[in-house]
Formats: sequence, C-alpha cells, structure tokens
Amino acid sequence: MPENNVAVRLRGLRKSFGPVEAVAGVDLDIADGEFFAMLGPSGSGKTTVLRMIAGFESPTSGTVELGGRDVTRLAPFERDVNTVFQDYALFPHMSVMQNVEYGLRVKKVGKAERRDRALEALRSVRLSGFEARRPSQLSGGQRQRVALARALVNRPRVLLLDEPLGALDLKLREEMQLELKEIQRQVGITFLFVTHDQEEALTMSDRIAVFDQGRIEQVGTPAEVYERPSTPFVAGFVGTSNLISGEAAKAVLGKEGTYSVRPEKLRLVLDPDAAVGADEHSATGTVAEVVYAGAATRFVVDLDAGGRLIVLQQNLEVSSMDVTGLRGGRVRLVWNRRHEFAIAS
Ligand code: ADP
Ligand code: MG
Repeated sequence: MPENNVAVRLRGLRKSFGPVEAVAGVDLDIADGEFFAMLGPSGSGKTTVLRMIAGFESPTSGTVELGGRDVTRLAPFERDVNTVFQDYALFPHMSVMQNVEYGLRVKKVGKAERRDRALEALRSVRLSGFEARRPSQLSGGQRQRVALARALVNRPRVLLLDEPLGALDLKLREEMQLELKEIQRQVGITFLFVTHDQEEALTMSDRIAVFDQGRIEQVGTPAEVYERPSTPFVAGFVGTSNLISGEAAKAVLGKEGTYSVRPEKLRLVLDPDAAVGADEHSATGTVAEVVYAGAATRFVVDLDAGGRLIVLQQNLEVSSMDVTGLRGGRVRLVWNRRHEFAIAS
C-alpha cells in the first residue's frame, strides 16, 4: 500500500485488562477511502481495537497511526476520527439540527458555517427536512442516520462504527446496510466498521479482517475470505465450513488434509450411481435432514466415507412437498474440483 494512502496503521497492538488479553498483537493497514470491516465473535477484541484507534483506551503496547502520524499518545479530540456507537447516544432534549451541529459548536465554528455543514451532513444521510424534530420523534433507522450525520459533520479522516446497525430489526438493517455503503461512497471517508454478523461484513465491505481471541485470523476481500478461508475458524465463522478431512478426504478426494466446499457449490444428484465429469469430485451419502426455506433448501448429508456436508439448492422446480420427501434417501454430491480448497488444520 503506498505510504500516503494509509488512513489507519496498527503495529503490534496489544491491550490487556488484568489477566485478560483482549487484543493480542494486531498489525493492520487500512487505505484511504476503504470500507473496512472488523468481523469476529463477541469478545474477540474488535471494540477494544476501535477504542484504541479513537483514543478512548491506551494500548498496553504497540502503535496507532492515522494518516501517517503516530497518535498513540494523543487524546481522542486530537485525533482525526469520529465514532458512531450502536446506541447512537443522541441528546434527547436537542433537535436533530442541534445534535448534528453540536461538535462544531464545541469547536467554536461560526454560526453560518455550522448551519451549512449540518444541513449538508443531513442531506448526505437523506434527512433533509427533519432538522426540527427531536430524536424521540424519529424511527430507529432515522436516529441511526442522525448519529451518522453528527459524525460526518466533522469531516473526519476516518469514521469508526461499532455495530451501528445492531439495534435495528432485520429488514431495516438490510436497508441500512445498502444505504451506509452508498453514503460512504458519496462522502469518500474511510469507514472502519465493527460487526459480528458475517453477512453484513460480506455485503458492505471492501475488505474484512476476521478476528478471533484478540488476533486477526485473515484479511481479505469478501470473496477471498469466503471462498479461500485460510483457517478452519474463518471457514466456520464466515459461512458454513463443510469440512472433509481425515479418512473421508483420503476416500473421497484421494489426498490427505482438510478441505472445504461451500454449500452452494455442491450439486445433489438423486441417483447415487450417477457418473461424474473428469473435473469433478463426488461422494455418496444419506440425506439426514431437509430444511425448506422458501427460495432454497438446505440438505444435511451424512457421507458414507464419514463426516457430513450441507448442500444449498435453489428451489428452481421443486416445492416443499418434493424436497422434504428426500429425507433418508440415498444421493450423490457432486462438485467441481476448483471449488474445493485446502485449509490449514
Ligand atoms: P468484541 O467487541 O469483539 O465483542 P471486546 O473488545 O469488547 O470484544 O472485548 C474483548 C475482551 O476484553 C473480552 O474478553 C472482554 O470481556 C474484555 N474487556 C473489554 N473491555 C474490558 C474492560 N474495560 N475491562 C476488562 N475487560 C474488558
Ligand atoms: Mg464489541
């Protein structure tokens, strides 16, 4: 990454709380203008990393650089970042306009400029016309956007977002995922986003860092992390892991090691004796479970060679009656060899 394009650089970042090592040595470069997600289960150290970047927490060791400047010892207000929290933390007694203007007022920005910038920030989150409302008169999604406008109005180099959609219900969350992405593209600010939701990270990000136990397991684009997970943890946390290992790997693939094939790459063939192509691998088994989910069906298949694989099939021509009847049936699973990948075990 060219030096002048690095928005955030973390080197050897660690944080211990007494005996708990919350962050256990993180190295990371995030480019200017990136939409970057830190993804991991609860307790994996994501929030602590974000708080160290914001300056709310000081590292036990290691450094934080913003735009090429070492800010490790600087106070939060001396750093060119803003944070959006899950609970929004809006001032309930202030109007939307006053909430958005607040940061500029503290910085003693003049009235006219304050107003212009607040209106622009509200426009960028599509809340023009809501200036006079109180937070209590807004929906959850609108409150979230006010929180976003309140951060954007400062024009930070980096916007830190800690599970900002966590309080919204599923449908609204999906809408806001697309909207956040659009807003980010428009304003061009680096977004560093924390989530435990793999789908959210895959949908929104340019790149993802997958966290486990205070460490980064893998950094890559959504496609890289999903299609080429580098560890069993990543394979299992980002998607369904579908592992073939040990004796099953020898019998089915003719090689040693641990391999994975994603559920949507598997084809379910109802004739277990069906022939397969030269570039394909296959395994016979018994359908243990059928989960009909409207658009698609999930089959759990116990392999004769040992282990089980999940198959995801679109319901192109079948109904729920057809698929549920397959429970207990003998099948063959077929996949193209290029969709199976080795993972370190
Ligand atoms: P995440 O955001 O991924 O859920 P956190 O960064 O919040 O994870 O927490 C990582 C670990 O550090 C957890 O074990 C958590 O209990 C611990 N931790 C976080 N903040 C503190 C604190 N202020 N005091 C003690 N332990 C903490
Ligand atoms: Mg957290």
